Amino acid sequence: MLSELAWRDFNYHQLYHREDIATVAMQAKYGGMQWRDGGEELKAWGRGQTGIPIVDAGMRELWATGFMQNRVRMLTASFLTKNLLVDWRIGEQWFWDCLFDADEANNPGNWQWIAGSGLDASPYFRIFNPVLQGEQFDGGGDYVRRWVPELGLLPDKCVHRPNEAPPEILSRAGVELGINYPLPLVDLRTSRGRALEAARSL
Ligand SMILES: Cc1cc2nc3c(=O)[nH]c(=O)nc-3n(C[C@H](O)[C@H](O)[C@H](O)COP(=O)(O)OP(=O)(O)OC[C@H]3O[C@@H](n4cnc5c(N)ncnc54)[C@H](O)[C@@H]3O)c2cc1C
Repeated sequence: MLSELAWRDFNYHQLYHREDIATVAMQAKYGGMQWRDGGEELKAWGRGQTGIPIVDAGMRELWATGFMQNRVRMLTASFLTKNLLVDWRIGEQWFWDCLFDADEANNPGNWQWIAGSGLDASPYFRIFNPVLQGEQFDGGGDYVRRWVPELGLLPDKCVHRPNEAPPEILSRAGVELGINYPLPLVDLRTSRGRALEAARSL
């Protein structure tokens, strides 16, 4: 808890010295990052239609309520900036428009932390695996079932990875991948490699 308050102070400290925190990478070398044009993938992220259940649950909760719990903020932001390789500023703007607690220091400060460009940021090679994180922090799948009801009848062990579920389990749960729930937008391992490559080339 105290460390969270310290992060809040730290973000305000940064804003005090750097009014451009929402637009400029705090570590200059990240200014050269080759971001991808998100296109349809970006729209799918905003709508909670990425095919990664915990990311979709978070993005739908954000849209419906204007709130998202901190862990899920980290996972959705990481998925956008690392797995989709879309510029953190675009995600920051979406959160800015949607969050009730949108804050001029904490929103960009946290986005830059996730993207790796912030002062004292998460090291670039630490890329969340949203499936494993979902299983760790939402083991019973309650959060996913609440916000992604089309996965509601899947057993716990499949709810965070419907694309790996056997066809008979999907069919019993009424899940038709690619029809009423999307297949994952990207392969997590391949997209992780692409993000690492982009960072190494800086
Ligand atoms: C990508 C991303 C964007 C975010 N955007 C915002 C934002 O626009 N506005 C905002 O207030 N917070 C933001 N946060 C931080 C954090 O998610 C929220 O402050 C937190 O969800 C508030 O929930 P809580 O009150 O239950 O937090 P608790 O865990 O109970 O923490 C207590 C207080 O500490 C502060 N705090 C907690 N976590 C953080 C953190 N990571 N950074 C800074 N302060 C923190 C908050 O003021 C919070 O109320 C963001 C985090 C991420 C990863």
